[in-house]
Amino acid sequence: MKHFAAAALALSMLPPVAAAEPELQISRAGTRTANSASAQNFTGSVRVEMLYTPAGPERTSAGSVSFAAGARTAWHTHPLGQTLIVTAGVGRVQCLGGPIEEIKAGDVVHIPPGMKHWHGAAPTSAMAHIAITEALDGKAVDWLEQVSDAQYGASQAAAAAGPSQAQRLLGDVAPKLAQLTDDVLFGDVWARPGLSPRDRSLITVSALIAMNRPDQLRSHMSRALDNGLSKDELAEALTHLAFYAGWPNAVTATGVAREVFATRP
Ligand code: MN
Repeated sequence: MKHFAAAALALSMLPPVAAAEPELQISRAGTRTANSASAQNFTGSVRVEMLYTPAGPERTSAGSVSFAAGARTAWHTHPLGQTLIVTAGVGRVQCLGGPIEEIKAGDVVHIPPGMKHWHGAAPTSAMAHIAITEALDGKAVDWLEQVSDAQYGASQAAAAAGPSQAQRLLGDVAPKLAQLTDDVLFGDVWARPGLSPRDRSLITVSALIAMNRPDQLRSHMSRALDNGLSKDELAEALTHLAFYAGWPNAVTATGVAREVFATRP
């Protein structure tokens, strides 16, 4: 009896057995990795960063997907549907038999269960979205055939859009410069998945403010709004830069911002 009491006392002094208590999880910014999406199910350069993978009885996953200009998913369905939150750039989504819809930063798309569809970037702009998907019996997606160039409509869209901004501004005097601007700067550098279009806009606008380049700043302020920066964020950037790049540069940039903001809702 004495032994038993001593054993019980000893046991009571042990730390409690680690129960499977659920714990709060925080996946810190910058600690997750992005991987190239499978060429079997995507066309073009696509990077996927899983934000959350379900554990135990949970069924919902979330991933951040970045599409370079022209890149898109194959046709597919989700057994329990999917929600897409567009975080940067301009893209496209289409359900079988429906029109191709343009989507922009801030738009939220819901795809009903079982509906055949695809999503991706626009032909001349990168796009990033967060995809939230619920699995049924462990399966969140059924992949189908690729979206052909004809279905994607890249060529018609490029033709319908007419000459690019670089072609209009530079093409008559310096056609090679216009071509390099379209193909190398915007077609390649801006489309690279290493930085989001939003971040590329923020650093470009900052550099143009710092160098006091109001002509180029005008079009890049507008592009920055397309890429998901808000007017308040751009105003904050030029206020910040007054201290690093000079007061007169920030004042000039404020005049440009006023012009650009007036043309945007
Ligand atoms: Mn989908």
